[in-house]
Amino acid sequence: MAIDAPQELTEREEPTWSLVAEGFDPLNERGAEAVFAVANGHFGVRASLEEGNPASNPMIIVAGIYLPTNLPAGQTLLTVPDPSTLFISADGVNFSMSTVRTNTHFRHLDMRGAVLERIWSFTDRHGRSWRWQSLRAASAVRPELYLYQLILTLEKGDAPSRVVITLPNAVNLANGNRRGQEGSVAMAEEAMDLVQTDLFLQGSRVQVEDASISTMAHPGEPLVLDMVSQIVPREQPERRNGDVPFSILIGEHETAWEDRWSVADAKVGGDDGLQQALRFATYHLLSSASVNNGRSSIGPRDLSGIAYHGHVFWDTELFILPFLSLLWPEAARSCLLYRYNTLAAARERAKSFGYEGAMYAWESTDTGEDRTPDFVALPDGSAVRVLNGEQENHVSAAIPYAVVQYWQASGDDDFMLQYGAEILFECARFWRSRVSPSDHLYSIRCVIGPDEYHEGVDNNAYTNAMARWTLVAAESYAMKLRETNPEAARELMQRLRIKPDEPRAWRRVGEEIVRSTFLKDEVVEQFDGFFSHQPVDVASYLRAGVPLDIAVGHDAVQRMRAVKQADVVMAMRLLPEWWTEAAVRKNFAYYEPITAHTSSLSPPIHALVAAWIRDDALCRKYLEQSMNIDLAPPYRGAAGGVRIGALGALRQVVTFGLAGLKFSSDGLGFDPFLPTSIEDLEFSLLWQRRRVHVRIRRDNLLEIKVDGAPCPVRVNMEERTVAPGEWSSFSFDPAVTFWSAIGRKGDSDAS
Ligand code: BGC
Repeated sequence: MAIDAPQELTEREEPTWSLVAEGFDPLNERGAEAVFAVANGHFGVRASLEEGNPASNPMIIVAGIYLPTNLPAGQTLLTVPDPSTLFISADGVNFSMSTVRTNTHFRHLDMRGAVLERIWSFTDRHGRSWRWQSLRAASAVRPELYLYQLILTLEKGDAPSRVVITLPNAVNLANGNRRGQEGSVAMAEEAMDLVQTDLFLQGSRVQVEDASISTMAHPGEPLVLDMVSQIVPREQPERRNGDVPFSILIGEHETAWEDRWSVADAKVGGDDGLQQALRFATYHLLSSASVNNGRSSIGPRDLSGIAYHGHVFWDTELFILPFLSLLWPEAARSCLLYRYNTLAAARERAKSFGYEGAMYAWESTDTGEDRTPDFVALPDGSAVRVLNGEQENHVSAAIPYAVVQYWQASGDDDFMLQYGAEILFECARFWRSRVSPSDHLYSIRCVIGPDEYHEGVDNNAYTNAMARWTLVAAESYAMKLRETNPEAARELMQRLRIKPDEPRAWRRVGEEIVRSTFLKDEVVEQFDGFFSHQPVDVASYLRAGVPLDIAVGHDAVQRMRAVKQADVVMAMRLLPEWWTEAAVRKNFAYYEPITAHTSSLSPPIHALVAAWIRDDALCRKYLEQSMNIDLAPPYRGAAGGVRIGALGALRQVVTFGLAGLKFSSDGLGFDPFLPTSIEDLEFSLLWQRRRVHVRIRRDNLLEIKVDGAPCPVRVNMEERTVAPGEWSSFSFDPAVTFWSAIGRKGDSDAS
């Protein structure tokens, strides 16, 4: 559903590149502040109105710096006051939504240039008309810079007017009065010099320390206030000397975004709503990431809100990194380096539970210690013990999975040798020690799978499959390295003290984990005993718009045959080659109707798998739901930040679902399927240092062009090496799925 733009914008903007919020609705405000936020991976600025409002929650959120808090979450991401908070009065009249008569008011996010604009025309009580036009951007070129500009014009009035501009936050920050959140002042001051602001009025510097600015506004002559704020951690004490003109700073930022879009844009014909949603997803994904040598990673609400306190979950590895690994590999590498940098804590954690290797935190912050709260308050005021920290062990498979995906996409052997293999091996060691013998197979007991409705379950099929994958992939990598680079293999094994026969044991254990492959054409039991749980009409709760667990309560939902989010379906998404087509169809038909989608991560994964089995109606249904998660007003769910994992997964629906992309170190495969609403698709990706452009047409042609070295490509049953430079065409049959194209290959691994 594309959002209509005001007349003023439609003349200069394409709606699919824009996001517009007209008027002002306090009920939508907190969500809108996240949806329209600007960020650059280093910090994010919520799109609050400068003059504030009781409905507002303005702040700048800084990546990677966590402060202690008294809340059960233990640590929370640093926020600092927004220096662009400002109050204006003219001849004693304050400008605010409640004190003037608004003629036009809208915020416009120009996603192409990554600039947020606010336009506000109003009449004050002296009958004078004003136009307030402001813009803000988080520089994509100089990661410490926040750029803000206000152009205020007295449009109609018979005489000049005295204007007073007060910048309380900028002044406080400049004077060292730095208030962090929740009593964290001391820590915040230790961690950073926070914000330094340079201010210019009509091009001349203004001293921030004493800003209130008093000046005359003459009819028809714009007042221009430029603000350049640096948000610099103390370890990088370099200061900008403040002499680069604002227009240059904005210009270079927009050019950098043009370059980003030229790689990352996905174009879809025939569906403007989807086009806009994809750009929205891409905009936030690119805004949330940075190349920072593993100093930080991306939380489930990126830098647009503070829900989950900015802790890092599996969302990053399985929902966001598939996008970054193929489009911005340096940023993906950085997120994985963050996991490498937190390996020591993961090792400690494994030890503290009596396991080996690395047991990653379910909720991770700067050190990698687990920060999952112990208790959570329910809407009825009661508190429930949170077991996810101990039991959502599947994160220790998500991370090595993302490592191998990144490696296969990028061909970054150095990363793998220096860091990735260590993560993979240590996670394999964890899983080998985590299994317990049962009959002649291994069980994994007392876990929570992605379906968090059920705690303390045995043999969650998803967890078991991903554990198996990790063990087998670790062995495969070790063997391959021994074969291709024996010297490096020896060195690595020595460094990590891996005994010669250890990799073989990993594989053996992996292959003997109960219910960990799905090659029988049967419905897989989500965990031991799930089939005998109590049936429930999940659809009726969905129709009522009430989350099932909230409606029936935490204890009752445990006994129900209902699923919070893609779980078995997630195993299909990640390990398609471990399934037969018949099994995927049967399992999807069984699990989809009993899934409550209480996590935003769920609908896009369902859209993706529905595309794989050519279910046009369900694919469109879930695609539509995924598009609207944050984009559709009233934006309430986004108040704590946009759901960046769902946005990453929306991009996955296109690349992996509709285009049917599968890749390995050996090449790319496509089995395309376009739902009836879509005319064509176009996107590019980076694979093994080549840029690959892909077009998929309604007349069943896939066109591909490669920049760089020749690229092995499979489309349905046809395999060819595409030479660089020219567009090559493949015809495809949308009825041919991945499984029918490759035939059932059986078990597969990282090689
Ligand atoms: C989901 C998890 C997710 C977390 C953060 C939870 O509601 O169930 O899968 O990691 O939110 O997004």
